[in-house]
Amino acid sequence: MKNIVSKLTLEQYEKNFQELHPPLSYGSAKAESSRCLYCYDSPCMKACPTHIDISEFIKKISTDNLLGSAKTILKSNWVALTCAKACPVAVLCEGACVLNEKGDKPIEIGRLQRYVIDNYFSLGMPALFSKKPSNGKKVAIIGSGPSGLSCGAELALLGYNVTIFEQSETPGGLNTWGIAPYKMRKQDALNEVELVKNFGVNIKTGVGVGTDIPFNELYKNFDAVFLGIGLGESHALSVNGEELPGVISALDFIEQVKTEDWSSVPVGKRVAIIGAGNTSIDAATEAKRLGAEEVIVIYRRSSQDMSAYNFEFNLAKKDGIIFHFLTAPEKIVGKKFVEGIECIRMEPGKPDSKGKRSVLPVPGTEFIIPVDMVIKAIGQEAQNDFISTIPDVKFVGRKIQINSDTYQTGNPKVFAGGDCINGGKEVVNAAYDGKMAAYGIDKFLGK
Ligand code: SF4
Repeated sequence: MKNIVSKLTLEQYEKNFQELHPPLSYGSAKAESSRCLYCYDSPCMKACPTHIDISEFIKKISTDNLLGSAKTILKSNWVALTCAKACPVAVLCEGACVLNEKGDKPIEIGRLQRYVIDNYFSLGMPALFSKKPSNGKKVAIIGSGPSGLSCGAELALLGYNVTIFEQSETPGGLNTWGIAPYKMRKQDALNEVELVKNFGVNIKTGVGVGTDIPFNELYKNFDAVFLGIGLGESHALSVNGEELPGVISALDFIEQVKTEDWSSVPVGKRVAIIGAGNTSIDAATEAKRLGAEEVIVIYRRSSQDMSAYNFEFNLAKKDGIIFHFLTAPEKIVGKKFVEGIECIRMEPGKPDSKGKRSVLPVPGTEFIIPVDMVIKAIGQEAQNDFISTIPDVKFVGRKIQINSDTYQTGNPKVFAGGDCINGGKEVVNAAYDGKMAAYGIDKFLGK
């Protein structure tokens, strides 16, 4: 990359990456919990994909029963700290809070949940759950992201001998490496990994299934296998110049930022992000916080079509990110490194069969935006190559096909959950999938 930004001081980096939502104090948590109406049949609980009994955990905060509150949360969600910090609460639990209808501020459910789990971790994770005696059966889990951890915790408590195989040296999957540091730090995710290990789950890191050991070895040696493998490589832009130094995928960039060794992360002075989903916004705001002078998001459709949540879009605008809607990249320009990106204006076309409006290039509107870094954030591929080695596991589009009750794939011994079955949703959806898959595995192996 030609123009590496001048390095900031450690204090500036820490300031730029400080938490968006700081923790609640004892007094503010008590005051916030006492605002809750403890609704019977609470809509917040229904809106949470893991169905945490929110009114119950909040009520326990108000009576200083913080361990009881942690138990209420964790029995529904084993990665509750990640969810408290990274869930889009405005469109889930807090968006459903009845106080919105009364014109009041919704209860800060995410921050209260964080308050409870922070306290639980600070106490050294005292035992709240008892394990069933060992049933002698072994389950292999591939991937230590939220679905793998949730499945592993639940199975361990049911008496199974669980081994998680993780290809990275550091466990936790996207919880560890894929969430912007101003939302949560790597250590938060590692604490959740410790919680699961405390139940006796064995996590083998640095072991890629399909590369270091064949899938068949697991298939033969374990009674069931759970696939919590997420998605694969980032989609290519498929434009000329994509191979130039200075072009990087959003996930690789975010992973570098998550090392928290800020000054070692290369970032351009002018950065273009291609795509307008939540990952794109994370990459854009992180580039800006690393010191990039100008960050531009380029999206081929209109602002109404982008998949980023409104609150993420607003955060990006507050950070000074520039948006070019109805603009598509045509080629990345540069001889030895990225010097610019050639784009073309788009215009809305006719709706397709599903009612989604197409977009068409407007001839003669090509223009070059001078940039020295391009971050690709247009989604990820499915892990087709790996899955094709497992008999009877099939895809529907980019999603592994499962029985929605049992999470069993076409191969009775193989189960799946998380991004690999939903194409890429929230951590909380993966947490729920992992738990439900554990029940499916228990039903299969207990028959
Ligand atoms: Fe409390 Fe709001 Fe949930 Fe009612 S909907 S229980 S007020 S958080």
